[in-house]
Amino acid sequence: MSKGTLVVISGFSGVGKGTIVHELLNRYDNYKLSVSATTRKPRDGEEDGRDYFFISHDEFDDMIACDKLIEYAKYVDNYYGTPRDYVENELEAGNNVILEIEIQGAGKIKKKHPESLLIFVAPPSAKELHNRLLSRGTETPEVIRSRMRRAIEESEGIENYDYIVVNDNLNRCVEEINNMIELQKNKVSRQLTYIKKIQSELREYWKGE
Ligand code: 5GP
Repeated sequence: MSKGTLVVISGFSGVGKGTIVHELLNRYDNYKLSVSATTRKPRDGEEDGRDYFFISHDEFDDMIACDKLIEYAKYVDNYYGTPRDYVENELEAGNNVILEIEIQGAGKIKKKHPESLLIFVAPPSAKELHNRLLSRGTETPEVIRSRMRRAIEESEGIENYDYIVVNDNLNRCVEEINNMIELQKNKVSRQLTYIKKIQSELREYWKGE
């Protein structure tokens, strides 16, 4: 069985990437979402083990020391990281694994896994992004300000992604992203076993003619 695709989905805070990821998991088989570890406190309604593994700074440091994270980054005032075992096992089992992570982590993943697919979800406008953050109602005005500020820095890293998707229509976005992931399997670099097989079959066939 061929390995699954490692898919990074990033986007400014409030852009709606969580909803997109949720829809991908609902609509299609063979997608798995990696649950990150974070030192951030849970928001109302968030569950340990489902939304994040909420851990202390010391526990986070231990995970780094034991090489249990594929990547980690500091975002605003907290640390976030991707646990290694889950990702590697699911890819091996042929599933596409989604990492919903910020831009520094995305860069680290591309370096370690050049075959990964990096997708950036962007809003139709800056004003729309601000409105979405306000209407979510989960953050203080101060946090919203720091997230809008962070968006400026993140916008400078979009060029390092493979694809950008503007989230103005949820259905279209989800379909487009699924198509990108499906197409990724057809990359020549992912089909080396098949290529070897057809080359050797052709040679054998020629001998038998
Ligand atoms: P939030 O606090 O809104 O849940 O997440 C803040 C940012 O951290 C988001 O951009 C989210 O995608 C990112 N993030 C979540 N988990 C990880 C992770 O494991 N690694 C990295 N690098 N970023 C993450």
